[in-house]
Amino acid sequence: MTDAFRGVVAIDGPSGSGKSSVAKAVARSLQLRYMDTGAMYRAVTRGALQAQIALDDAAAVAEFARRMDLPVPTDPNAQRIVINGADVTEAIRTSAVSEAVSAVATNLDVRAELVRRQREVVAAGAAIVLEGRDTTTVVAPDAAVRLLITADPQARIARRAAELHETVDARTMGATTAQVIERDAKDSTVVEFQRAADGVITVDTSHLSLESSIETVLRIIAEVDGKQTP
Ligand code: C5P
Repeated sequence: MTDAFRGVVAIDGPSGSGKSSVAKAVARSLQLRYMDTGAMYRAVTRGALQAQIALDDAAAVAEFARRMDLPVPTDPNAQRIVINGADVTEAIRTSAVSEAVSAVATNLDVRAELVRRQREVVAAGAAIVLEGRDTTTVVAPDAAVRLLITADPQARIARRAAELHETVDARTMGATTAQVIERDAKDSTVVEFQRAADGVITVDTSHLSLESSIETVLRIIAEVDGKQTP
């Protein structure tokens, strides 16, 4: 039964695929915890920029990440991000951070530290929905449900443009294309999130509304859960 699901759901995918909105909605609907792993990479990036650490100084950024006080919120309805006492919820979504985050996410020592913290969060509490780029493959490869949420580039760029700008036209699509495609290209040098790993179910949301995407994922969780329950 879906409403009794008590496992780990790992959801990966590229930017603009709808994975954040879907993951959060699924956590709310099933009353599970929720962890946005991308917010953690963004928080390290924002913190390092503020501390004027050169992002290409891999050792310094990794040291900063290891020392950083970064409480990880797991309530899908309360996702304020606070680093070293300062609320950076809005600041981590600015284009300055979006453009710089891949430099931090490709730092393997930072990844090791954040994956360690993420696994601690999973182990420390009840069932959870994880969202990111490597949650199905690295953070929680044993998750009961592993999903890759994708959408074709055109759909992803249009969604991001709508989030970032008031109108979706040729100009805003053009400006967003560089951001989305370049970030994906850089990110894919260290994590594979464009193709589903073995055992990972792909959900293509290119032609699905948000509501249908959420329903599709809830149905998959119910199916997987049904198969596992004796
Ligand atoms: O999901 P979101 O777009 O907020 O993620 C921001 C960035 O964090 C990604 O572009 C990627 O560089 C990094 N990331 C990652 N591994 C994750 C989640 C996010 O490398 N599990």
